[in-house]
Amino acid sequence: MASTEARRECETEGCSKDAKLQCPTCIKLGIQGSYFCSQECFKGSWQSHKLLHKKAKEDKNQNESKNCVERDINTDPWPGYRYTGKLRPHYPLTPMRLVPGDIQRPDYADHPRGMSESEQFLKGTSQIKILPPEDIEGMRIVCKLAREVLDIAALLVKPGVTTEEIDHAVHLACTARNCYPSPLNYYNFPKSCCTSVNEVICHGIPDRRPLQEGDILNVDITVYHNGFHGDLNETFFVGDVEEGAKKLVQTTYECLMQAIDSVKPGIRYRELGNIIQKHAQANGFSVVRSYCGHGIHRLFHTAPNVPHYAKNKAVGVMKPGHVFTIEPMICEGGWQDETWPDGWTAVTRDGKRSAQFEHTLLVTETGCEILTRRLEDNGQAHFLSQM
Ligand SMILES: [Zn+2]
Ligand SMILES: [Zn+2]
Repeated sequence: MASTEARRECETEGCSKDAKLQCPTCIKLGIQGSYFCSQECFKGSWQSHKLLHKKAKEDKNQNESKNCVERDINTDPWPGYRYTGKLRPHYPLTPMRLVPGDIQRPDYADHPRGMSESEQFLKGTSQIKILPPEDIEGMRIVCKLAREVLDIAALLVKPGVTTEEIDHAVHLACTARNCYPSPLNYYNFPKSCCTSVNEVICHGIPDRRPLQEGDILNVDITVYHNGFHGDLNETFFVGDVEEGAKKLVQTTYECLMQAIDSVKPGIRYRELGNIIQKHAQANGFSVVRSYCGHGIHRLFHTAPNVPHYAKNKAVGVMKPGHVFTIEPMICEGGWQDETWPDGWTAVTRDGKRSAQFEHTLLVTETGCEILTRRLEDNGQAHFLSQM
């Protein structure tokens, strides 16, 4: 196909002569058009024409300051560290967010190293607390609030959104519900939730990295309300993901749900790992050993310790009134982990993907109540609507 050169008319109002002269400033600024028939017409139009230049310069400056922010992203904050996979941190992080003063805070919120004195006091004890009815009611309420916050985070998961933007939304959703976001300053964790992408097993720190089509993203939410913590997480698909990633996420969810199905009084906590590993292995996947489920109520992490791997030595037998999490982390490759120099981000040593799901559970007389269950879609996890 051929293109035709159009006849150009002088830009001056009321002049319709052929125009061959182009404004030199417009050429420099990349403004299209701006042809004049003569020097006289160009001069005569100058007062109104120069406004075009002003506008173009302003737009250019605005774009440059935007790009500047992007150019300042530092993906190499620890020179010399050998990453296990393709993911990189995207620094600098935004400053730690504040929580309004009228919201009740856990003891570690104002500790300089984020230590929880109440947790430290019980460290090493394996005695599992049986919650009185009023505490169980407190747990029901906080877990429902945590679920609401996770469901809000789920709405934001799409390509181009940064994990820091998700963290900001989580933070606001917590404070709007009179909740303190439990991860914030817990042993100095810098954000209000954990966001774990691809090879990150858990404890990923929200940063400036935009999510990419094909990523899998776990968002782990814990909130503190009226003296109690509620904890859950789900793994989401970012846009379209590979079949292999789908199988991993689906299997991980099944591992959690099968383990939950076994929960009732008299079952040993160590049995959960056998169920989880059996299903993971049957699908060709491995089970993370360094991170476990945990008791949770007035303390964020306490007895029982709940390993997800087989043949573990966990102490304790389930009794009505126990509240704890199951949160298996399942890997495409090996189970071995290492931690980034930020002291938090746990990644697979082979750089392959890892997925996770978590619920907070109450042991009842006959089985268990999933305190963090989803109220929509028959309680099913969000990823199932994308399968
Ligand atoms: Zn947990
Ligand atoms: Zn969690």
